[in-house]
Amino acid sequence: MKILVDRGVVIEDGVRIGLDSPGDYTFVSHAHYDHVRGEKVICTPETAELIKERYGKEGRVREEDLPNIRLLDAGHILGSSALLYEGEKTLLYTGDFCDRDRLFMKGFVPRKADILVMESTFGRPDYVFPDPMEVLREARDWVEDELRRGNSVMLLGYSLGKAQILEYFFERMNYPIYVHGSLLKVNKVYSKFGIELDGFMTYREAKKGGFLRPPFILIAPPNNNLKVEAKRAFFSGWAKDVSSYDASFPLSDHADFEGLMRTVRKVDPEVVYLVHGFKKELALELRKEGFNAIPL
Ligand SMILES: [Zn+2]
Repeated sequence: MKILVDRGVVIEDGVRIGLDSPGDYTFVSHAHYDHVRGEKVICTPETAELIKERYGKEGRVREEDLPNIRLLDAGHILGSSALLYEGEKTLLYTGDFCDRDRLFMKGFVPRKADILVMESTFGRPDYVFPDPMEVLREARDWVEDELRRGNSVMLLGYSLGKAQILEYFFERMNYPIYVHGSLLKVNKVYSKFGIELDGFMTYREAKKGGFLRPPFILIAPPNNNLKVEAKRAFFSGWAKDVSSYDASFPLSDHADFEGLMRTVRKVDPEVVYLVHGFKKELALELRKEGFNAIPL
């Protein structure tokens, strides 16, 4: 069993299993990636459905086809999974993950492994987020204040993952709520897997049909081009780095710095390889605790 590192990380053990990168088998951790290649894709049914809906691509083998692997819920978005490979050594690849529960998402529960390959998006000590439910409650207070003043609000979050959390949470408020059209495809898949999000009307439909009743809530991706008179709030782990919105909330689908450190302690690996984000910074912090941390 070998670990190959080229443009991505590949497990070589008779067959080559690419971790979000090409191999004889390609493990796709979640549907944020649009570079799904190869015939033999390993992923969850949810991820397969999201990829089909968003990118029109198909291809999935069941994990039973490869006896040494197990998929674990990564808690990042619907269908996101980590991969546990049990060869002569055990290897855990997290993909993007979040170790905190939030609404219908359950946080990632790490397992012990000899080798850990972990994302490090927020791997710097200044990225520590409050509890997600606390962030949502603060956002709700802000939204209610604005609506009471007669201002509509636009809640901005990535169209796959964040937007669904916002829809699910704010749907329970007694204000008119509309969504950007690009969310419908994703909502459909969430609904298919038991998270009911298919009752929303799009902003365009409402406007065209004359149903628009300000003040309202509009949920949309950050890069939308709707011209709407509204207060804007941005939801992201990067919230503290942006100032171009009326409000910003540190609601993330990733583990924060503390979550990354906690995860490594629980896995307690001989070696941890870091991919994406602040990997050098995180490696330094992990080495202070005696871990053999290698940024890739
Ligand atoms: Zn992601």
